[in-house]
Amino acid sequence: MKAFEATRLYFEKAADRLQLRDDYRTLLLTPKREVQVQVPVEMDDGRVVTYIGYRVQHDDSRGPMKGGLRYHPDVDLDEVRSLAALMTWKTAVVNLPYGGAKGGISLDPKKHTRKELERITRKFIDQIHDVIGPDSDIPAPDMGTNSETMAWVRSQWEKYHGFGPACVTGKPAELYGAEGREEATGRGVGILAFKLLGRLGRKPAQCRVALQGFGNVGSHAAKFLHEAEFKLVAVSDATGGYYKRDGLDIPKMLHYALEHKGTLEGYTEAEKISNSELLELDVELLVPAALGGVITKENAGRIKAPMIIEGANGPTQPDADEILESRGTVVLPDILANAGGVTVSYFEWVQNRQHYKWSLNRVRQELDSVLTQAFEQVWQEAQSRKVSLRTAAYVLAIHRVHRATMLGGL
Ligand code: NAD
Repeated sequence: MKAFEATRLYFEKAADRLQLRDDYRTLLLTPKREVQVQVPVEMDDGRVVTYIGYRVQHDDSRGPMKGGLRYHPDVDLDEVRSLAALMTWKTAVVNLPYGGAKGGISLDPKKHTRKELERITRKFIDQIHDVIGPDSDIPAPDMGTNSETMAWVRSQWEKYHGFGPACVTGKPAELYGAEGREEATGRGVGILAFKLLGRLGRKPAQCRVALQGFGNVGSHAAKFLHEAEFKLVAVSDATGGYYKRDGLDIPKMLHYALEHKGTLEGYTEAEKISNSELLELDVELLVPAALGGVITKENAGRIKAPMIIEGANGPTQPDADEILESRGTVVLPDILANAGGVTVSYFEWVQNRQHYKWSLNRVRQELDSVLTQAFEQVWQEAQSRKVSLRTAAYVLAIHRVHRATMLGGL
């Protein structure tokens, strides 16, 4: 199923609960603007490669649009459109004063030098600088981009518009970036795991965890969960899964990944398993924090974990979600589970606009407070409507965006 179709199905299910009129559904689903641009760049060897860059601005009824820039070979308009809509629902569910957007270029960053990536980024910003900015649409890092990419985005945007570090978030801490942005999404996953366990009357020490992905989200989630005394028995990355019944040595694995270009390839102090085996392990909590679409109708029936926290965007396909729901699996949906990143991005934007820097401690406290409030609201909504946490999160988000759209007028 195409990514946009999956997001639309989740939207429709919640819109049914809200008895939202068809004409409003069309209005809320239709992106405000879709930009597709040519990005011709000279490579180090003199060849000219022409990339296609996308920026989809889905909705701005609640504030400037916000969403990452992704550099990955699978990027296409459908995927960007779906992720832009997800951002609208994500910022609404955590109640940030933002709308949703997303952008990207279909390329493999590993196949480019740093200089080439800088030229590609600057050229892309040349093409879209007039539709992004602190009051309109604020990009951030996503798969394949990082704080350095965001520093190039800022520098190129400022060439046209003058000083304005709030035009992009996820910048290096030395260049108006927020303390704690790097860890924020993984930390948010950890904070929410804690809240979910509390509501279900479980204890971290009795909670075995399998976690897919050991990149930005996965590694920080692993660190937080380990420190909170969860028992991580399996983690994985693109090189496969690593399993230990009695619990993995997470600090050692984090150190290993740091020393091996971010991967766990060659780590020998655990049993090697496949990524699909990891999803089906006998654990209490499963955290998919790598790719989209990994939980399908084929494997959903074999997933034993009674709790799933979606660290990645869109890891569960809608037909798999139905199977999980019918089996009583509690799924904390991506639009809430991985909202820690956009929340700290918001804190960065606030700091940039006030020219005032917060301490790491303050960032962590405010993150905890925003996510706790959002979790409690989604939990209450799910209880009162007798729906899944996903439907409850969408109901809250759609209601907020619909209200803002109506109050603002067409
Ligand atoms: P990343 O590039 O830092 O890490 C991705 C991880 O996934 C790596 O460990 C990689 O080895 C692993 N991986 C790649 N292919 C795999 C495969 N086939 N099987 C298992 N693992 C595989 O990316 P990230 O920033 O951690 O993002 C992960 C997910 O979280 C994405 O879906 C992203 O959209 C989502 N997300 C990220 C953020 C953020 O702040 N970084 C915020 C919200 C959502």
